Amino acid sequence: MGNMRCAILADIHGNLAAFQAVLNDIEGRGGADEIWCLGDIIGYGPDPSECIALLRQYDHLCVAGNHDWAAIEKVDISDFNPEAAAACVWTGRQLSDEDVRYIDNLPLVLCRGDFTIVHGSPREPTWEYVLSTQSAQANFNFFDTRYCLIGHSHVPLVFELAGETCLLKELPAELELGENRLIINPGGVGQPRDGDPRAAYAIYDEEGKIIYHYRVAYDIEATQEKMVGYGLPKFLVTRLSYGR
Ligand code: ZN
Repeated sequence: MGNMRCAILADIHGNLAAFQAVLNDIEGRGGADEIWCLGDIIGYGPDPSECIALLRQYDHLCVAGNHDWAAIEKVDISDFNPEAAAACVWTGRQLSDEDVRYIDNLPLVLCRGDFTIVHGSPREPTWEYVLSTQSAQANFNFFDTRYCLIGHSHVPLVFELAGETCLLKELPAELELGENRLIINPGGVGQPRDGDPRAAYAIYDEEGKIIYHYRVAYDIEATQEKMVGYGLPKFLVTRLSYGR
């Protein structure tokens, strides 16, 4: 593939300001050949249809997230908290027929070279949160490639299988890919939850075999004002300020 560079974006969640800031940041770093989107393009944020349209302007791969399929009623929302459910119903009403078709056709699992790409986990692609070494260790048995990219928790993390032991660390600014198998979460673009409100994403440099992790400031208030204007739940508005 030559020196392929792929931008790894998870959990955009209808936050157009965050998504655009990330795309600008990618451009400023020399661009990417492809976007790998780890699901949850929509849900929570004020611009679902715009985020789908913007993603589709790029060469990209994308898997379905729980919010994507909940918004088109392909999975049920009984597990959602009241705020997420309210935002989900609102989101569904913003989508065009074309948006619905696109979301409906997203796969749950994709493989690209050394990577498996899912939203939640390889074992439970839509729902499982991989936040502990225990769940990560079990999930290494559910994909065949060396590495797996996940989103869903909105927390940048890397799990490494070293022999029989599964190690957990924060995703560093530069992650060199070696022999050991890894499960990697780049953090969330549109609703970070690790205490840093800036958008999180990663770029995979195939030649260098390095994943670079970046944080990008964006106009949080612009997104919040739209959410207030649309009557989206207050809790979802305020959490963007704190990245929680
Ligand atoms: Zn999400």
